[in-house]
Amino acid sequence: MMDDVRPTVVEVSLARLTENFRAIQAAVGRATVMPIVKSNAYGHGLVPVGRHLAGLGATSLGVALLEEAVALREAGVTLPILVMGGILGHQIPIFLRHGLTLTASSIDKLRQIDEAARELGVRAKVHLKVDTGMERIGVHYYNAQGLLERAAECRHAVVEGIYSHFANADADDLGSARVQLERFLEVLQWYDKRGVRPPMRHMANSGAILQLPESYLDLVRPGILLFGVYPSAEVRRTIPVRPVLSWKSRVVYFKVVRPDHPVSYGSTWRSDHQVRIVTIPVGYGDGYFRALSNTAQVAIRGKRYPVVGRVCMDQIMVNIEWDSAYNGDPVVLLGTDGAATITCEDLAGWAGTIPYEILTNINTRVPRVYV
Ligand SMILES: *Cc1c(COP(=O)(O)O)cnc(C)c1O
Repeated sequence: MMDDVRPTVVEVSLARLTENFRAIQAAVGRATVMPIVKSNAYGHGLVPVGRHLAGLGATSLGVALLEEAVALREAGVTLPILVMGGILGHQIPIFLRHGLTLTASSIDKLRQIDEAARELGVRAKVHLKVDTGMERIGVHYYNAQGLLERAAECRHAVVEGIYSHFANADADDLGSARVQLERFLEVLQWYDKRGVRPPMRHMANSGAILQLPESYLDLVRPGILLFGVYPSAEVRRTIPVRPVLSWKSRVVYFKVVRPDHPVSYGSTWRSDHQVRIVTIPVGYGDGYFRALSNTAQVAIRGKRYPVVGRVCMDQIMVNIEWDSAYNGDPVVLLGTDGAATITCEDLAGWAGTIPYEILTNINTRVPRVYV
């Protein structure tokens, strides 16, 4: 399979994705799992992942942007799709034409949605967004009553859900996450007081799914955990998941480099003895961060070797000292090769970022292969 494409590929294990989805579903009991597939499904490929999850019985999907939801619709995914990001008025008719679920994050946005739905003669599906401590989109918890009251009056917008988002659910100290949950539960009392059934209530991201079962409510929104990566180093790993993504390439060049002959742009690395250097066709143009220069490792023939010199746009150089490697030898940039494993956390640590950014940064020019 790797022969008919560029040797640098992302390999996505749909079997692992299935296992992770089932492990999360088992852990959250009666709550519904809404997989979050924004940002190209965390780099795993939006449409193939969306379709696979639909096939596993997911009853809805969540994305950040309208375009992501439209791409799923155009690929034939008919599940309810919640777009969680902020919206502008001119986008609303596109949501409605595709039967997408909108996030109403203010009274004004809700009014615009209701009006657009009236004009088009359709019903708009919305989830209300309450800000309980993220200070991103959503009405403040202390002002949420007005939005809930306005929502009850809407004739063309149908409120199917109400949600909030944690800022610190993957932290060791869950104090602030608990405060956010309290605030959300207080907002939800509005429904109790009026004796009406609340719409679908949801708040839990991966961190909360792992650490805060009381936040499961009606539905949970796992993103990174579905892909087998934990959201932080300190989070309690209460649900076993395994990485879905591997990033692989092959040796395309071998050379012997003499002592004191520097490697790559800026001549930032040199050896004081003769070494064997192999070139791998991947670079920052693929999303292999330039910050990995002189810090990252790759696996070749089951052993880890350092990336030496600057990461170029399309190539990196690796020092194999006096070991052997041949053109065409597999190279693992992220994943497991025999006894050697390079994790997403490793790359994040070396690049000075978080695993989320490692995954979502892998460029679309890297072909995705599904196994
Ligand atoms: C991205 C996102 C999620 C999923 O977050 P993970 O930490 O990847 O689980 C859930 N809810 C909202 C609103 C998001 O933006």
